[in-house]
Amino acid sequence: MQTGRFVDLIHRKKEGKALEDQEIRNMIRQYVAGEIPDYQMSAMLMAICFQGMDDKELTALTLAMRDSGETVDLSRIAGVKVDKHSTGGVGDKTTLIIGPLVAACGVPVAKMSGRGLGFTGGTLDKLESIPGFRIDLSEEEFFAAVKSAGISVIGQTGNLAPADKMLYALRDVTGTVESIPLIASSIMSKKLAAGSDKILLDVTTGSGAFIKELEQSRELARRMVAIGRGAGRETVAILTSMDEPLGYAIGNNLEVKEVIRTLQGDGPEDLKEVCLALSGMMLALGKEDFSYEEGRDLARKTLESGAAYEKFAEMVKGQGGDLSYIEDPDRFEKAAVSGELKAKGDGYISSMDTEGIGVTAGLLGAGREKKESIIDYSAGIIMKKKLGDRVQKGDIVAGLYTADKEKLMRAADYMAGCYQISDTEPEPLKLVVDIIR
Ligand code: URA
Repeated sequence: MQTGRFVDLIHRKKEGKALEDQEIRNMIRQYVAGEIPDYQMSAMLMAICFQGMDDKELTALTLAMRDSGETVDLSRIAGVKVDKHSTGGVGDKTTLIIGPLVAACGVPVAKMSGRGLGFTGGTLDKLESIPGFRIDLSEEEFFAAVKSAGISVIGQTGNLAPADKMLYALRDVTGTVESIPLIASSIMSKKLAAGSDKILLDVTTGSGAFIKELEQSRELARRMVAIGRGAGRETVAILTSMDEPLGYAIGNNLEVKEVIRTLQGDGPEDLKEVCLALSGMMLALGKEDFSYEEGRDLARKTLESGAAYEKFAEMVKGQGGDLSYIEDPDRFEKAAVSGELKAKGDGYISSMDTEGIGVTAGLLGAGREKKESIIDYSAGIIMKKKLGDRVQKGDIVAGLYTADKEKLMRAADYMAGCYQISDTEPEPLKLVVDIIR
């Protein structure tokens, strides 16, 4: 027998029992309306952390969060719209490469991206490091850009999934962020509100991911794919390794320069491999009767032809960016101070604390310490050695770039503890770990 009291719902979840669809919908509606106080919702979130949610509950929660605000209607754009979302990483600049690459292959990209979160970087901050680039296009400008160039990447518009904003802020201060159903519903509610026809999830795993254990990452991927299916949107997840930073560059304009080199055919192999896998899957989802293998093949040829670089330049110009920086990347602002991190012994680089390296980039000024902090676009790290590289004591492991000496010393000290050297060569890293459909 239901009492209608929220405290009884908390008891039920605490005892590991499933909540009904309507109860979950009411809970989200009442919380957004201010009728459920934060202390009760915090108790519910903690109960979910310990007891989990089944797929039916999780779909109900995600749809209620999606429906808490506006949703985007992309039906004015012809073709199948495929969104891509990464669960976060260090040196993860894939959107800047695969967006233009997929658009150059004829699949429209109408994408809303985010800013950096914690130790991870954000696509919007990277794009804004290109002088003049506007991420705040009006809805009309956004649709016009996708229509003419086949691609536009902007910041979130409107009031999408406000329940997620409220719940995320509460989770942040109640120790309830690291819960698979809560992460899955948070990400998928925003993706479903953003209006694409199909969704590709890049679920990162390893030392630079939010979820570090492979089996837990697989579970997160499986749960998000199930939510997509429950909501009638085809969703595929690719599990990719974040056991070291992706590519060599970490930090906003440093990463944009690496993106330009990659689009010109001179990018790091690991970055290229992950980008080809993700774009191959986006093409398979966006084109009729097209396999993942055909998608990867087409993506490789398009990257090699220079068409993806041309598309990137077209997007930058269309969104107000100064093309002269893309044509001559030496024009990007350079950091006032630089230094080097040197190997503390001989051997192989055997493991990296990738989260720690992301934190180091933040200490150098590439991320925000507080919401209102101003990012230093030229700050960051250029890795000189990757996992498995042999080093001798004194070899340069990374270049560090920042605004002043004090930041440099603090960051160098911190990063010195973020990698290990051993006598045995580590196994090569598997970058594309699994695909979950
Ligand atoms: N990213 C999100 O959007 N939500 C989470 O809960 C974690 C990462």
